[in-house]
Amino acid sequence: MVDDDAGKPRESLGRILTRAVRLRCPACGHERLYSGWAMRRSCPKCGLNWQREPGFYLGSIYINYGLTALLLAIVYPLLLFGGWASNQQLLAGALVFCLIFPIWFHRYARSLWLAFDVWLDPDSPRSLSPGSDERPNSREQSAGD
Ligand SMILES: [Zn+2]
Repeated sequence: MVDDDAGKPRESLGRILTRAVRLRCPACGHERLYSGWAMRRSCPKCGLNWQREPGFYLGSIYINYGLTALLLAIVYPLLLFGGWASNQQLLAGALVFCLIFPIWFHRYARSLWLAFDVWLDPDSPRSLSPGSDERPNSREQSAGD
């Protein structure tokens, strides 16, 4: 348990977002959030729990969808009215973009969602001990029952 960071001044949003974009731990910036496409359970360095409660990362869909729609809403009219492409070409391109971009951006959306949570609540769950990349054992989970 790492409680010695409690009371520490809040990190700047810019620093936390930079760590998120680099897919690093938003709290310390040292460890990678992902091993391939799979998100790791916790930060081995600072102990921040990256696997929150079920449904925690549902909110990252808003980031993913929002950025996809925003990019399309900006680029499509620019290309269409700028005379760069026909409507049929743009529709085909938009379809491909809407299928590929959210899949690629998925990890970044989750990382950004976690970063916002850390920024809003710097003392958020650090239930796993540093160095542990394992699931907390079932005895600890049911201790409050
Ligand atoms: Zn960390």
